[in-house]
Amino acid sequence: MAETIYDIAVVGGGPGGYTCAIRAAQLGLKAALIEKDKQLGGTCLHVGCIPTKALLFNAEVYDHIKNAKEYGIEGVEGAKLNWKTIQDGKTKIVQKHTKGLDFLMRKNKVDVIAGFGKLTGPAKDGVVTIDVAGKLVKAKNVVIATGSDARMLPGLKADDRVLTNIEILSLPEIPKSLIVIGAGAVGVEFASIYKSFGTEITLIEYLPRLVPAEDEDVSKELLRVFKKRGIESFVQTKVEKVERTKDGVKVTFTTPDGKQQAKDAEKVLVAVGRSPRTDGIGLDKTKIKSDRGFILTDEYMQTAEPHIYAIGDIVAGMPQLAHVGAMQGIVVASKVAGKYAKPVRRDRIPGCTYCEPQIGSVGLTEAAAKELGHEVKVGKFPFSANSKASIIHSHDGFIKVVADAKYGEVLGVHIIGPQATELIAECVVALELEATVDELMFTIHAHPTLSEGMLDAFSSVYGESINM
Ligand code: FAD
Repeated sequence: MAETIYDIAVVGGGPGGYTCAIRAAQLGLKAALIEKDKQLGGTCLHVGCIPTKALLFNAEVYDHIKNAKEYGIEGVEGAKLNWKTIQDGKTKIVQKHTKGLDFLMRKNKVDVIAGFGKLTGPAKDGVVTIDVAGKLVKAKNVVIATGSDARMLPGLKADDRVLTNIEILSLPEIPKSLIVIGAGAVGVEFASIYKSFGTEITLIEYLPRLVPAEDEDVSKELLRVFKKRGIESFVQTKVEKVERTKDGVKVTFTTPDGKQQAKDAEKVLVAVGRSPRTDGIGLDKTKIKSDRGFILTDEYMQTAEPHIYAIGDIVAGMPQLAHVGAMQGIVVASKVAGKYAKPVRRDRIPGCTYCEPQIGSVGLTEAAAKELGHEVKVGKFPFSANSKASIIHSHDGFIKVVADAKYGEVLGVHIIGPQATELIAECVVALELEATVDELMFTIHAHPTLSEGMLDAFSSVYGESINM
């Protein structure tokens, strides 16, 4: 039988990899997907986006029940959590979507090859060979999509008390107290979820503000609301030591005034970023360039090695988000198939953080826009002036619009508040189409909705918000 030479072979079956393989097959390419784990789906499906948002749903419902009396609903006082049912529910959702991926592979005729894949070298006569646990897989184009692992603090190892995103998702019980180190998206999401479940939370961030990648006003508002929710937050604070005690852990840290403090808790979550999984995959046998393990690519995701691409969490200079890897996968598949492809722009990527209150943002922050030399005009609309926000009892937060002062082009939108992660979609489209404030001010938004807050926010750039 003739040897199979795939048009495209993808190493890694997370959201970057499986999206790339599916789109390649849809475009008529012969595609293979190589995965080392038993299941497809990667971090996102098994220990990231999906299980965390499943827990978040439980946390939200529980928060509503706690406020039931205020909503005129009685008889649900003293509601208790059944942790096993919550965990089982989360597992069912993950399993359902894992099966869904297997179905999609069959439907699109993508060959799934089990095993750890590594490059054997550059392309020879236009064909790249990947060693998959001793079996050689050949392809005209290879896409590396091997993802990332949680970064640990030096000298620490994850176990039943020192947790990463993996252990915290399958705890046998809800911890009474939890110290979260790192206030990026992963840290604040777990802090928020477990606070809703009744855990005493201490959040420690090394940089001067929570969610440091967001607009400064968003960080301030999150700090304010977290304080109101009883989440103790320390910023500009350096963790000196994490020790195991008889019953839990002790974290010693230095606050901005130079004072050292120690806190005890049942568990500690280390959420200090994610390292690229690029060790042992044969990069050294090629001329692929990397920076601290992150692979350098051009705008179409091609590495320094012709026929070899990289997508997802392993790519240098891009946010580590499932939808970024997925779109990069679509770009590569389209490019390889000779179809229209548009590079992923960093300033067109929605950043969503699913804490309470939620955060959704896209484009330039006010500070970044100014740094880039833009003369900016800023509009801000608080959810306290939006009628739907009143109806759903969710008044914290605002929508901030950063626009170019001369032409009114929208440069960035930063939302903190109810459904921020859904509301941001409109803003991504607005930026993608280079919409101006004037156009958006005449775009009809339904009443009463949270999204009409967008109309007010765009109008507020010219001081013409109707509801404020
Ligand atoms: P991964 O999802 O990590 O998948 C890589 C795959 O490659 C894995 O299946 C792995 O087993 C396989 N692999 C690795 N090496 C090899 C090899 N040599 N051979 C074969 N297979 C290999 N992002 C969002 O957009 N929204 C969210 O809400 C969100 N929530 C998150 C919550 C948490 C707690 C965490 C940790 C992350 C979250 N993320 C979220 C980030 C998101 O999970 C990642 O950005 C996304 O999973 C990256 O996709 P990927 O395809 O690059 O890699």
